[in-house]
Amino acid sequence: MQIILASSNRGKIEEIQRMLAIEVVPYKELVDIDIEETGTTFAQNALIKAKTIFTKLPQSIVIADDSGISVPALDYRPGIYSARFAGEGASDKQNLAKLIEELKIKGIKKTPAYYTAAIAIASPLGTFTTHGWMWGEVIDEARGDKGFGYDPMFIPEGFDKTLGELDKEVKDRISHRAKALKLAKIVLDRIL
Ligand code: IMP
Repeated sequence: MQIILASSNRGKIEEIQRMLAIEVVPYKELVDIDIEETGTTFAQNALIKAKTIFTKLPQSIVIADDSGISVPALDYRPGIYSARFAGEGASDKQNLAKLIEELKIKGIKKTPAYYTAAIAIASPLGTFTTHGWMWGEVIDEARGDKGFGYDPMFIPEGFDKTLGELDKEVKDRISHRAKALKLAKIVLDRIL
C-alpha cells in the first residue's frame, strides 16, 4: 500500500523516511490542496492534515506530523504557532530570532523548554495518533548551525551544547519526532 507523507518540508521528509525506514511519497506529488491548520493542539493539527489528504486518496496510508517548541516561562508559547511565531510565512531564522528576542525582553538567559511532536496516521483501518517530547532548556542566543528551526537555542537535557552544535545522530536518538515515530512504527507494522 502506498504511504503518503502530509508534508512538503524536505528536512522533515528525509528525517521521517530515515527513521521509519520505509518509502514515503510527499503528498504534493499526488494532490494539489492547501491544508489549513485550524486545530488547537498538535494532535488535532496532525489529524487535520492526515485526514484531509486521506479523503482524496482513500486507498493509501497517510502520515502527518505537527510539532513545535513550548516555553513555560513564556506562557507555553510559541507551541502550535512555532512555524509562524514571527508572522505568517516567517522563515525558521525569523522565528528563532523572535524567540530569542522574547527571552531578552523578559531578561531570561536560560529557561526550561520542550519540543512536542504529534504523528497522525489515517488509513482504511482507522486513524491513530502518537506523541513524543524532548525536554531541555532554551538560551537567549543561537549557537551552531546544525539542525533547523529553534535547534541553535535549545540545549537538550543531559547535554551542555545546543542542537545546533550536536551531531544529527544525537538528535535522531533523543528527539520528540524520533520518539513519536517509534510509536507510529508499531502502528504501521500492524496496518501495512
Ligand atoms: P509544523 O511544520 O507545522 O509542524 O511546524 C513545526 C515548527 O516547529 C517548525 O517550523 C520549527 O519552527 C519548529 N520545530 C519543530 N520541530 C523542530 C525541531 O526538531 N527542531 C527545531 N525546530 C522544530
